[in-house]
Amino acid sequence: NGRWARAGAVLKELEEQCATPVEKVKEVADAMTKEMHAGLESEDGSMLKMLISFVDRLPTGDERGLFYALDLGGTNFRVLRVQLGGKEGRVVNQQCEEVSIPQDLMVGGSDELFDFIASALANFVASEDEDFHLPNGKQRELGFTFSFPVKQTSIASGTLIKWTKGFNVNGTVGKDVVGELTRALQRQGIDMQVTALVNDTVGTLAGGIYDDNDVVAAIILGTGTNAAYVERADAIKKWQGPLPNSGEMVINMEWGNFRSSYLPTTDYDHALDAESLNPGQQIYEKLISGMYLGEIVRRVLLRLAVEAALFGDNVPPQLEVPFVLQTPVMSAMHHDTSADLKVVGAKMQDFLGISNSSFKARKLVVQVCDIVAKRGARLAAAGIIGILKKLGCDRPNMKRTVIAMDGGLYEHYTIFRESLLATLKEVLGEEASASVLVIMANDGSGIGASLLAASHSQYL
Ligand code: ADP
Ligand code: MG
Repeated sequence: NGRWARAGAVLKELEEQCATPVEKVKEVADAMTKEMHAGLESEDGSMLKMLISFVDRLPTGDERGLFYALDLGGTNFRVLRVQLGGKEGRVVNQQCEEVSIPQDLMVGGSDELFDFIASALANFVASEDEDFHLPNGKQRELGFTFSFPVKQTSIASGTLIKWTKGFNVNGTVGKDVVGELTRALQRQGIDMQVTALVNDTVGTLAGGIYDDNDVVAAIILGTGTNAAYVERADAIKKWQGPLPNSGEMVINMEWGNFRSSYLPTTDYDHALDAESLNPGQQIYEKLISGMYLGEIVRRVLLRLAVEAALFGDNVPPQLEVPFVLQTPVMSAMHHDTSADLKVVGAKMQDFLGISNSSFKARKLVVQVCDIVAKRGARLAAAGIIGILKKLGCDRPNMKRTVIAMDGGLYEHYTIFRESLLATLKEVLGEEASASVLVIMANDGSGIGASLLAASHSQYL
């Protein structure tokens, strides 16, 4: 019985260290707002890069023609083509294909990765049928969604600052990723011009605004996490160039790199960070996003196995393997409503090699998932509140304010999503939160990138 007492103590400590009462959420939100200001003030003014996207024209609905998009940013990349028909036709036709990226290419050489992508795109272009029309003599144009931190130098060029989310490809950092892609397209013999380089958050924002004019910001909660929003150009102190006619500029916050002494962290988080591919970086992302939630849970379970023999006298060897417990599996266990928690039992068997887990152990596993998921969801809500504060949209009687959301974590992890939405309500208050809407922007980034390719076409 000592072991249950020990397990209880480990759990209690976890719960305390991960706690996010309203006050804490507000402190994190305020810290986010403050860092946003600092990041707009000067280069390197904040850990928030607040990157200028060079998108100062958002889609209007008038876009017409055939456009391609390529979305690279997670374990899969997607290619997409759309036929846009202006205000009446909207998206007349669209086709999409998803290709998974072999693990070795994620940590290999730059040319190998871009050749792989270009060759998949070549196959996709070859399958274009009569539903899509390219006027005679025109070149195909592509919007490139690239969801890693890039220092943009124009709408169609930008250098990679660093890889994140498990990518660590040799020879790309410091290079223009459009140049890398363009050369790979040429090696494949594809006649196509990259007319817009956008972050997935920026693409999602563009796609969101195309659908709903009241969209002010886009959030990604998938493998990684990030946010983009529409800023007044004159509020961007670090901007050297001429003010755009629209008076607006989309800012890619790269909020995954946010950190603050207010963030509730644990030894599990510190160890995860220290052993990660990017120690010291993307601290907020490591508390929130799909790539890491399951891994945090694994680390807690490992400690419970070692210190409280939660799964028997021997520590299950699979539990020692980093990233074996992925967030979709965590989510499936967390949502188990069966009386004997049989989904938890089955997942532990299948993914961790733990058979015959006791009911008590299964209940503890669910509790760990709950603590880790809700901390992540509430901290994500804090970030959104930080943006709303920056925009002055956190008060009652505000105009309708829409957040475009994308990402598998938010879409599929119901408890995470509901906790995030409940936190917005709890912290903003009933009245202010009534005018704030979170909408799912399904594949907004793909459509958005093609829309931005259209609005920045070489033929305009
Ligand atoms: P990406 O972020 O790689 O562009 P997605 O937006 O599709 O791709 O998000 C995929 C991520 O969402 C996965 O890495 C995983 O962490 C998370 N995810 C997917 N399905 C689920 C699920 N059922 N439950 C919880 N998380 C999920
Ligand atoms: Mg994505």
